[in-house]
Parts: sequence; C-alpha cells; structure tokens
Amino acid sequence: MIYLDNSATTRMDEDVLGAMLPWMRDSYGNASSIHSLGRAARVAVENARTEIASLMNAHPAELIFTSGGTEADNTVLKSMNAESALVRRIVVGATEHHAVLHPAEEMAAHGTDVDIIGVDPDGRVRPDEIARYDQASCLVSIMHANNETGVVQPIAALRERIPSAYIHTDAVQSFGKISVDVKALGVDFATISAHKIHGPKGIGALFIRKGIDFKAHQQGGAQERNRRAGTEAVALIVGFQVAARKAHADMEVRTAHMTSCTTLLRDLLVRTIPDIRFNTPESDVLPHILNVSFLDAEQLDGEAILQAMDIAGVAVSNGSACVSGSQQPSHVLSAMGLSAAEARAAIRFSVSKDTTHDEIHGAVAILAEIVRNMRV
Ligand code: PLP
Repeated sequence: MIYLDNSATTRMDEDVLGAMLPWMRDSYGNASSIHSLGRAARVAVENARTEIASLMNAHPAELIFTSGGTEADNTVLKSMNAESALVRRIVVGATEHHAVLHPAEEMAAHGTDVDIIGVDPDGRVRPDEIARYDQASCLVSIMHANNETGVVQPIAALRERIPSAYIHTDAVQSFGKISVDVKALGVDFATISAHKIHGPKGIGALFIRKGIDFKAHQQGGAQERNRRAGTEAVALIVGFQVAARKAHADMEVRTAHMTSCTTLLRDLLVRTIPDIRFNTPESDVLPHILNVSFLDAEQLDGEAILQAMDIAGVAVSNGSACVSGSQQPSHVLSAMGLSAAEARAAIRFSVSKDTTHDEIHGAVAILAEIVRNMRV
C-alpha cells in the first residue's frame, strides 16, 4: 500500500510504541494515587507535560491533556461560552475542521452568537475582516493550518488586529511540522494532537494561557488542575511526548524531505495529467499536503477515483476524513470558491517522513491512468 493519507493519521513509530508499553503492562498506576505506582505515573505525566509545553513555548501549567484534537476544540468553544462564561460571541473560519465548526453551529442553534468568516481564494482569512471582533467578549477560532489544503493562516497578524479578543488556534496539522510558538502567535488557546505526528490516537492537548479563569467543560475528578476531569491516559501521554520530541528534533530534515515529496508530486502531476488544478498554494503552506482538483470535474467522479486508487493500492483522501464516503463536497474547497463538482472531485495527497519518491512516482502513474480512462 502506498500510504498518502498522513493528514488523516500517521503510522505510529516503533519507539513511540516501545515507550508506551511499560505504562500499560507494569506501571499501570493511577496518576492520582499516592502509592509508588501512582507516583511513578504522576512523574511520567508531568515530565511529558513539561516537555510538550516547552516545544510550544508554553509553561507546563498552561497545558491540559485531552482525548485528542476534537475534544480540545470542543472544550474551548463550549467552556469559554458556558462554564467559564467569559465570551458571548464565537467567531470561526469557514474552513475550520468540523471539530470547531460543528460545536459552533450547535451553540448557534442554542442561542449563542456565532459568526462564520469567509476566506480568500487561497483559503486564508483576511485579518482586516476580523478586526471588528476586537472585543474581550469574543472568542475567535482560526486554525493554524488547514487539514485539506495545508494553507497556513496569518495568526500573528490576526492578533495584531484583535488585541482584546480571545484567540484559539487549532494547530493539529501544524504541530511538529512547523513552529507552533504560542507566544509568537499570540494565542490564548491552541489545540494539538499526537496521531498526526506518528504518535498514538486518542491523545491531544489544549494550551490555555496563564491568567485565564478557565473552568472544566468535562466535569468529574480534579485532574488537570480542575480543568479537565478524567484519569490521565499515562501510556498515551508518554507516547505523545516521544512523538513530539522526535518531530521537533528532526523538524528540519523531515520538512525538507516532505517538501521534496510534495514538490515532486506537483511536477509529475502537471506533466502527466492535463487540466489539473492545485488547491494548495505554493507558499505559506505545510510541507506535507497537496490538494488537487480537475478543470473538467463534471466529467469525473471523485469517489470513483478514490476507490480506483484504493484498489490499485494507493491510499489518498478527498479532504476531511470525516466527510469521506458522504459524497458531500468539501466545505473547505467550497469556501475557497470551487464549484460543487470541483470540490467533490478533489484529491488530497498527504506525505510523511516515511514517504519515498518511488511511492510518489507510483501514485501519480496510477492516478494518471485512472483519470485517462475516465475521460474517454
Ligand atoms: N483539527 C484538525 C485540523 C484535524 O486535522 C483533526 C484531525 O482530523 C482534528 C482537529 C481532530 O483531531 P483528533 O483526531 O485528535 O480528534
């Protein structure tokens, strides 16, 4: 299988798994217990918190662990409006992940003021358009980088326009690929997740800037300094730590490699498939994603292309994994101005540190043949 769906998830590294196993087999204590097994688990959790926080230029007390990116996104929006009662209006980008858009829509249905902000043809928000939300009662949630196109959003510029508002950024796709420095970005909240960087699924974290009186959305025990109840997933947290450490230690090498793969992909696609359109711009994008569609999209069935590629041994996606199979045009590409047909027949390639140039050549040859056959 040529796996080019690393935006959806990545293969877990062997040494990540190796670091996790002792915390499931032998050191299975509850980090809240006061006996030695519990204390060992507590030390592991706090070490991981300190290291992951430092990788995003945060203080360990500013990081809470969650069950993943989805929970962290939901938690910020809902707690800030309900439990913490700090904001009355939620502003989200039209190309946000559904983990942000769907809770925002749900909150709107229950009476919260929610505004959805459009994007330019490249998929970027215009900071000037958001300037009107410069109020302490607003939470603006704009992702750091998009999971379908790789487009990086101008978060620091956004902060300059709205110094008084709260800003949350979903950095699930960018963390470990490019710098996510919460101070340089100027954000109050940031979401990250382990399984996009060769870590385990089911673990993520939320940065909550010091000084914000943040109340738990998920209630129960006093874990995470009363900001997220639930027994800490020690093995997953340790796996996240190792994956994050490696992603940052190797960031330059990985970025150069992934960029070489997506550059090769662009070159080969242009040369072998006529009437292809790139939905990923050439600059200010993540190194690992390339989104394409076709000018004669009406003639092509996006799902059929994906299925044919799967049968031929290539795993790609048509955008957000949650949308796949539902035949809905991508909301991201639609917001960028693509027609429904174009947004339906789009393909997202996403590479990883492990992708080879041979795999890229193989995938393009297979796609070219599928499209050629469909066009006759
Ligand atoms: N946000 C973005 C941008 C994503 O790409 C994803 C994963 O698909 C999520 C949030 C959800 O993260 P998780 O799978 O950890 O719940």
